[in-house]
Amino acid sequence: MKPWNLVFLAGLIVYLGIRHVFMRRTSIGNPSTYRQMDNLERALLGIVAVGTMFLPLLYLATSWLAFADYTLPQAAPWCGTALMAAGLWLFYRAHADLGRNWSVTLELREGHQLITRGVYRYIRHPMYASIFLFSVAQGLLLANWLAGWGALVTFAVLYLIRTPREERMMCEAFGDEYRAYMRQTGRLWPRVMTPRHI
Ligand code: SAH
Repeated sequence: MKPWNLVFLAGLIVYLGIRHVFMRRTSIGNPSTYRQMDNLERALLGIVAVGTMFLPLLYLATSWLAFADYTLPQAAPWCGTALMAAGLWLFYRAHADLGRNWSVTLELREGHQLITRGVYRYIRHPMYASIFLFSVAQGLLLANWLAGWGALVTFAVLYLIRTPREERMMCEAFGDEYRAYMRQTGRLWPRVMTPRHI
């Protein structure tokens, strides 16, 4: 296996490890009051699993995807490694800041708190931003069109469909508090100027 493929694999293991730890922490004694795991959510999570896990693992374990191999510029995997490190840090921070309010789907917990501190102080979707960083890193580390860029394409679909639904859910749950939070933060990138109160 090529060394950059090993870097990707190590990153994927850390990514799944972080998920596993926080999934365990949030699942015990943390009942939900609202959960929107409908067919659309299931389909979105399914295609993301294909892009982020199934295709790269198939590529690493077999030669079935070799027809989509190509050559990356030499600097690409170095940039990918840096982006992966940044993505994993942000992924960890977002889980730590959300704490027991985190969920893999659209869900509200008993006593759900609106988090506006830590990395949530600047952007509303730091976890999604971290997954975008990880997905670009995957493309720069794996020299294969399908295994490399499948994550970015599938996650972009999830992001575009889920984010408006999630923000609608948060507005219904937290009303003006969330609307004010939306005015002060960017979705994936911090706002340069916060709007002035008239
Ligand atoms: N979109 C966020 C969170 C992803 S996890 C991010 O990218 O960082 C999805 C769950 O997090 C949602 O079901 C919602 O219940 C919860 N959530 C999203 N933003 C939140 C916030 N600011 N405070 C508390 N919970 C939040």
